[in-house]
Amino acid sequence: MGLKEECGVFGIFDIDEAAVLTTLGLHSLQHRGQEGAGIVSYDGSSFHFVKKEGLVGDNFNNASTLNQLPGRRAIGHVRYSTTGDSKLANVQPLFANLSAGGFACAHNGNLTNTHALRNALVETGSIFQTTSDTEIILQLVARSKKHKTVDKIKDALSQIKGAYSLIIMTNKKLIGVKDPFGIRPLVLGKKNNAYVLASETCALDIIGAHYIRDVKNGEMVIITESGVESIIIAPSNQARPCIFERIYFARPDSIIDGKSVYTYRKNLGEQLAIENPIDADVVVPVPDSGAPAAIGYSQKSGIPFELGIIRNHYVGRTFIEPSQSIRQFGVKLKHSVNQSSIKNNRVILIDDSIVRGTTANKVVKMVFEAGAKEVHFGISSPPITHPDFYGIDTPQYSELIAANHDIDEITNIIGATSVFFLSLNGTYKAMGYTTRDPNTPQFTDHCFTGDYPIDVTNILKHTHS
Ligand code: 5GP
Ligand code: MG
Repeated sequence: MGLKEECGVFGIFDIDEAAVLTTLGLHSLQHRGQEGAGIVSYDGSSFHFVKKEGLVGDNFNNASTLNQLPGRRAIGHVRYSTTGDSKLANVQPLFANLSAGGFACAHNGNLTNTHALRNALVETGSIFQTTSDTEIILQLVARSKKHKTVDKIKDALSQIKGAYSLIIMTNKKLIGVKDPFGIRPLVLGKKNNAYVLASETCALDIIGAHYIRDVKNGEMVIITESGVESIIIAPSNQARPCIFERIYFARPDSIIDGKSVYTYRKNLGEQLAIENPIDADVVVPVPDSGAPAAIGYSQKSGIPFELGIIRNHYVGRTFIEPSQSIRQFGVKLKHSVNQSSIKNNRVILIDDSIVRGTTANKVVKMVFEAGAKEVHFGISSPPITHPDFYGIDTPQYSELIAANHDIDEITNIIGATSVFFLSLNGTYKAMGYTTRDPNTPQFTDHCFTGDYPIDVTNILKHTHS
């Protein structure tokens, strides 16, 4: 089952060295996926593509690769896969020669009705080259009876459900689409006269592009030589962007809704200190992702911030490894303790989230071994009790520690002096709301609540949990 997928997408229209700029954009989106990267360029008459497993900086760093990607238009993708299918065929952008010409598509998110669609397509003769749900979009576009490409895409989108931020390139257009709930991010920017689409604003910054606006939920932006056009592809729901982008996924220097992700994370830490005051000597982040919240906690509580755990930067995100055994090993490779700020201290460790509990387990042990008197583990978000099906790799119920254990049990399992989480309402407060709107929540927060805005029963049926 190709269920879990977090990715980054980038596209740029009409500028010299489009593939080089795309490489830079993808490099700054590397935190969104590290297993593979691909770029498709268009030179005015043909499409060119390069796909590689591994990091952008290791694969697209040489002239011989970039020379294979000529043209003033390009789109790219960084991918984190999934369930056994981390193979090259699934690296995006996917490309097909359709009746109207070349069609390249890069997708961040996850469709929720893939089983039914795929079966129907296969039964009526479609041949799939990949196990990626994104290929379903290509097949639906290819088969659409509409005449214009944009109408074909609209036709395809009307049949898919789930989370998608898409960047599509044809021989005339660069197109960005966000699903009706706006679950995954997508922004529009401009460098000189060239429009840019990207998952996060950090990809605009790196190429010196300026941010124009977020693509709206249910919106398609169509970029051509004559400018940008916007069409609404779905009746407007209240947007429900994924709250986890702000808590963990996005880069701290990206701007979402007018504020840096760093600011939201610091607010989460402050809120955590308000809700859970603890008597201790030092506040220590679990690097890197726990750092902004730990700064917030430290500033609010007045307890000094210390770098008691050092992160080795030459290992990727622990989570982004295909199996649990490698993941566990990964945590050891990744963190080591800085005894000078730990020994004989009462320590508050701060991380952004606990998923399986692997990281917490390792770092709590490490910090005790270094001579801490107490180790309190604070998490700047609520317990993750439900899996994600919209594009983040949170695993199934059986693997989620907080889906199976209460706080006392978690404290025991990870061996901490105490464990505390941020409340759901506190999480919304940190995002600038007075409270979570119970009728139409401002975010999708299903990981904490089980409130899935898009039906996932079909996925649950096909998942072993
Ligand atoms: P655990 O070790 O409990 O399984 O995962 C928690 C750690 O993974 C935290 O340090 C957090 O920053 C990180 N994390 C949380 N959610 C995700 C995710 O969806 N993807 C990745 N790559 N890492 C995550
Ligand atoms: Mg982390």
